[in-house]
Amino acid sequence: MSRYGWRGRGGALVRADELTEGVERDALEALRRRERQQTLVAELGRSALLGASASEFRQQAVAAAAEGLGADRAGLLEPDGGGALVFRTAVGWPEGELRPFRCDGDSLLAEAFRVQEPRVVGDLADDGRYSGSRHLLELGLVSAAAVPVRGEGQPVGVLVVHSGTREAFGSDEVVFLRGVANLVAIVVAHERADELRRRSEEGLAFLAEAGHILSSSLDYDSTLSTLAALVVPRLADWFIVDLAGADGTFRRVAVAGAMPEKRELLEQLSREYVATIEGPSPSSRAVTTGATVRFAEFTPAMLRTTTKDERHFELMTKLDPRAVIAVPLIGREGILGALTFAWSDSGRRYDDADVHLAEELARRATAAIENARLYRSESSARELAEEAQRRLSFLADAGDLLSASLDYEQTLAQVAELAVPRFGDWCTVVMVGPGRTLERLVVVHRDPEKRRWAEAFGGQRPLDPDDETGAPLVIRTGQPLFVPEIDEAMLLAATVDDEEQLRTLRELDLRSAIVVPLVVRGKTLGALTLATTGSRRPYTAADLELAQELARRAAQAVENARLFATVEQGARAAQALEYVADAVVLLDEEGCVRYWNPSAARLTGIAEAEALGRRADALIPDWPTLDQQVHEQIPVTIPVPLRGEERWLSVSRVGFGEGSVFALRDVSEERLFEQARSDLVATASHELRTPLAAIYGAARTLLRQDIDLQEGERRLFLEVIESEGERLARVIDQILLAGQLDENKLEFARDPCDLAELAASVIESARHALPGGDRIRLRASSSLPEVPCDRDRFRQVLANLLENAVKYSPNGGTVEVRLRHRPDETVVIEVEDDGIGIPVSEQERIFEKFHRLDPAQTAGVGGTGLGLYITRELVTRMGGTIRVDSQVGAGSTFRVELPATNRA
Ligand code: ADP
Repeated sequence: MSRYGWRGRGGALVRADELTEGVERDALEALRRRERQQTLVAELGRSALLGASASEFRQQAVAAAAEGLGADRAGLLEPDGGGALVFRTAVGWPEGELRPFRCDGDSLLAEAFRVQEPRVVGDLADDGRYSGSRHLLELGLVSAAAVPVRGEGQPVGVLVVHSGTREAFGSDEVVFLRGVANLVAIVVAHERADELRRRSEEGLAFLAEAGHILSSSLDYDSTLSTLAALVVPRLADWFIVDLAGADGTFRRVAVAGAMPEKRELLEQLSREYVATIEGPSPSSRAVTTGATVRFAEFTPAMLRTTTKDERHFELMTKLDPRAVIAVPLIGREGILGALTFAWSDSGRRYDDADVHLAEELARRATAAIENARLYRSESSARELAEEAQRRLSFLADAGDLLSASLDYEQTLAQVAELAVPRFGDWCTVVMVGPGRTLERLVVVHRDPEKRRWAEAFGGQRPLDPDDETGAPLVIRTGQPLFVPEIDEAMLLAATVDDEEQLRTLRELDLRSAIVVPLVVRGKTLGALTLATTGSRRPYTAADLELAQELARRAAQAVENARLFATVEQGARAAQALEYVADAVVLLDEEGCVRYWNPSAARLTGIAEAEALGRRADALIPDWPTLDQQVHEQIPVTIPVPLRGEERWLSVSRVGFGEGSVFALRDVSEERLFEQARSDLVATASHELRTPLAAIYGAARTLLRQDIDLQEGERRLFLEVIESEGERLARVIDQILLAGQLDENKLEFARDPCDLAELAASVIESARHALPGGDRIRLRASSSLPEVPCDRDRFRQVLANLLENAVKYSPNGGTVEVRLRHRPDETVVIEVEDDGIGIPVSEQERIFEKFHRLDPAQTAGVGGTGLGLYITRELVTRMGGTIRVDSQVGAGSTFRVELPATNRA
């Protein structure tokens, strides 16, 4: 079988022309064999230099090894990366017998490979070593020699020869084999270098292609899927991209498998076993450690450690990963996820170059993901900004509309028109009416046809304030309602088995809805509903916020409009109240002044500006008493201290929802008059009855037959009748005169009068008429001019003053009447007494009609209270003045001043 027909040392190779026997022949043969071996090595060397392909060269080398050693079989085994030595080339081996040897096994060639030293065995049957080679005996192989092939200090293979006969491979044979192995090592090294170059070129091309894919789009999900298709089958039989989610799970972005059933398996696994960041899988380990995980030879035992349970293990077994690398995607701010590469059916393995390539790919994928995310966040920020801008401009437009008019119904309709279609396809506004009624104020739909439907829907169905859905619910709770997705169940619930309405609602094709309350100062005025229909995007939380802001502004506008209407009404009312004589005061629920008309300011002396907003009891300390005494709607008259004096006020109150209105009128004058009038009744009845009683008594006595009266006695009774009649006449005269003065019906003469003469005559009469009249003295200046006046009226004035002076001096003393002329052409008439005097507080009031210091006449001094009133009226009408100077217990001086010339 050998090209060279060599049979080994035990066989015979006889050349006909040289028949040398014994040692010489052996030596010669050995020499020839060495020559041949040298020739073989030289040929191999030339072949290597001439650039034979690595596989050709391997074959040549193995054949040369067999020939050079006269062996039956020879082979070159190289590690497969998975812990086995496999035949790369063989000579003399039937195909079926070429099986791998484990690198760590107990075989001759494995040991030679491991220890990097040649190993020979003469007879496998005799040798106790190399149990891993014993099966060769069954193949009829007895002896063997193996030398390692070393490239750059690394074992790259093992060259082995086997022979069916016992051979003693000596050092010469080993030297030859080593020579061949060295040449193999050189070629393999070249081949490796070529391979590396090729692979790095391929890798670069691969990375370029991957880079192109990764930068082609910002949708990294689809990009990573495309990338997966590139990775499989070049770098993996199946490939997974896992991105770490915030929730601790992986999002499986891409899955690729060379075979469809593997891809399905992968997808099934992804569905059933949600990959978690913390876990046994290679990708979990890569992400948690931040380092590449490599399983050069993925054994079933390893598979068990990377799976979660039996079923997971079974599925993974079907997937059959044999070599796996998982590379973390290390981003700027943390690990984004992992790429998992696996070789399966192809039987390939990952070496360092593959790991580098995978890591490089991971770097590029990371950059692509980060770029995409950055862009996404930038563009979403931009979109958000644009969206925010749109919202702001919408709110601004709505705000303009809302503040433009005070007709809020019309304004709300305009706002709804603005909201559709900018923020929805359907907008309704429901307002709370009187009681708890609800009224649909506005219904707007983008599509006029649908608008009719919507209106019809509204019309058919009056709003029930107790409804558990929609605007009624929102109005009741004051809370917004946000329905991002409207489903059939909601429609059914909303229409309560009404087929017709259900059809209508379906027709409206609602998609998503927001109902917000129109709330102002805690009061819900109504509700605004916005809805999208058909294919429009559903509402988001941002839309809800917008709707709430819109509702807030709309509610404020409604409130403003309503307030304005009330204020306007109020202003008209207030305008009228400005001119009302009564003080009108409006207090709110807290008792604070909300309205204070000018009459109120006049009455209390407190200006409107000062009163508004303050509590009534802070302004008028007696207010609580007043408030207590006043009954609803029935006026009462009560004394209230105001401006330092007691005033009588007639007060009425009307309460309304948010406070009370008080009307106050100062009735002090009327009350005084009333008082005076009742005093008059008392006085007059006394003043009239006393003389009448006297007259009646005297007359009856005179008429009695049974009593015999003396002439003196009779006269006395007649005098009583006369004087009491006079007194009666005076009282009646005074009453009549006061009436005349009141009605201004009195005429006054203006004759030049000698006042001294007039005074003397009045005093003269008084002396006779008045008891104690004899105490009156007159002191008149000599140079008195004539004064133009009414003689009788003057007499009356003086008579009144004299009567009082005598009357109110019960303890006697003199009454002096003085007349003098002042340089300012005034004549002064003074009447001075030593009587009881008048308190200062009464000195003005005694001149008032019916006013008496002692109305009940307890002191026993009678009078009508009209004397001084009449006196002052007469003096005044004669162009003069009258006043009193007095001290209680020290007498009084009444001073009348009359103009001496005709000043008219
Ligand atoms: P009368 O009819 O009561 O005298 P008048 O109008 O004359 O009414 O006087 C009013 C009141 O003034 C009297 O009731 C009295 O209290 C007081 N009065 C008037 N003159 C004097 C006086 N000379 N001395 C003290 N009190 C007087």
